[in-house]
Amino acid sequence: MERKTRIIATLGPASESPAVLTRLVAAGANVFRLNMSHASHPWVRTCCARIREVAAKAGTPVAILMDLQGPSIRTGDVQEPIRLVRGTQVEFRNRSLRAAAEFSVTTNYSGLSKDVQPGDTLVVDNGVLRFRILSVEKGRVLGKALNRGVLMSRRHINLPGVRLRFPPLTAKDRVDLALGLELEMDFFALSFVRDASHLAALRRRIRQAGSSAFVIAKIEDQEAVRNIDDLISSADIIMIARGDLGIECPLEELPIIQRRTIKQCIILGTPVIVATHMLESMIVNPVPTRAEVTDVANAVFEEADAVMLSGETSIGRFPARCVEVMDRIARRIERSGGAGYAEHAILTRQDQLTVRAAVVLADSMPDSAMIVFTRRGSLARDVAHLRPRRAVIYAITPDSAVQRRLLLCRGVRPVQLPFQADPQATLNEAIDALRRTNDLKKGQSLVILSDVLATNGRDVGSIVYRKA
Ligand code: PEP
Repeated sequence: MERKTRIIATLGPASESPAVLTRLVAAGANVFRLNMSHASHPWVRTCCARIREVAAKAGTPVAILMDLQGPSIRTGDVQEPIRLVRGTQVEFRNRSLRAAAEFSVTTNYSGLSKDVQPGDTLVVDNGVLRFRILSVEKGRVLGKALNRGVLMSRRHINLPGVRLRFPPLTAKDRVDLALGLELEMDFFALSFVRDASHLAALRRRIRQAGSSAFVIAKIEDQEAVRNIDDLISSADIIMIARGDLGIECPLEELPIIQRRTIKQCIILGTPVIVATHMLESMIVNPVPTRAEVTDVANAVFEEADAVMLSGETSIGRFPARCVEVMDRIARRIERSGGAGYAEHAILTRQDQLTVRAAVVLADSMPDSAMIVFTRRGSLARDVAHLRPRRAVIYAITPDSAVQRRLLLCRGVRPVQLPFQADPQATLNEAIDALRRTNDLKKGQSLVILSDVLATNGRDVGSIVYRKA
């Protein structure tokens, strides 16, 4: 049985070789993420070429996601790691200034002293080091360490609850985006998206370059959570980026934010990814913890479209095994039923009612499959929105880029096939192709939906029932 939940694997030194990439694809990775916080341009070029080669050899569609760093604040280079005890005072200063304290570190964000105020919390190294801000002056922020630890170079800085006045796309994002567009990436994720205007700015640039790539909003701070409804309505896809979100928000809020976001995404029809720390212990261990298994299972049970591996596949010791573990958990949980949030799906267009009728029909027949003819992918997304219970959604499209962009929709198996002038011939060919690959059995019930008005002049969204 086809797995419905999609798997994203982040690439890194542990997974960049053609051999490991091949194993990741064989294990079920659907999308590879290139994280621009760590990637050089030559590396991105090499990886893209390799991914495409491996996918072509495997005969499997695989998409590429460029994760733009966004307004990420980091410490600069420190000569010697700074050993902190509770109360150690550290200055965080602009790169253009000289140190004015015994312990001083530069940051890459020149607006830091404008955005924070005394009393705010500054967090370094993914929550490991916490500082209370004591004073702020032009270009300098003085913090007092709240715990012991070691402050090192190029560590991530979070400012929980602080409204940052970064532009939507940094200079680095713009340069990385140009590379991603040149390499025809399928998805662009924007980190630390704060409101819908940031997504619009990114989408405008993508469209100006003639690309139809999808825009993913990474929800990773309190402002994004406050604007979540707007972001869900404007993004093509939402990513619950729990790594930063768990630092920017109180930890105990994280499960609530996750559940609400998944539910609202499903209600509004925006695909949603649950990301980070899903199998974290497998970075070093060959088996996950029980809690991790349950975490992946929860995301699958709640019918998220995709789950994402980060450090597990980029730097971990068992990248392919992590994908295998996710695949196993997802298949099993999918068989056990889901949360059913799609029952509350909000449908605003007439043609969505036709889609709902098709999904009701498919759900009423055990062992049925759905075949959806879709030029731009929207009809297949509409079907996935309603979360057919068992039926796989075979999305037939003539366009390989549409095929790849559908790889983040739950339950959609995108197939590229040229459309013929006679729609009946296209349908017969699609069924033959799916029978050849053993996806369809002879006599299996099929619910067929089509928006290929251009090829046949029939009604958009007409439903056909037949046997394979
Ligand atoms: C995250 O914070 O969960 C995330 C996916 O972003 P990054 O890996 O870029 O920190």
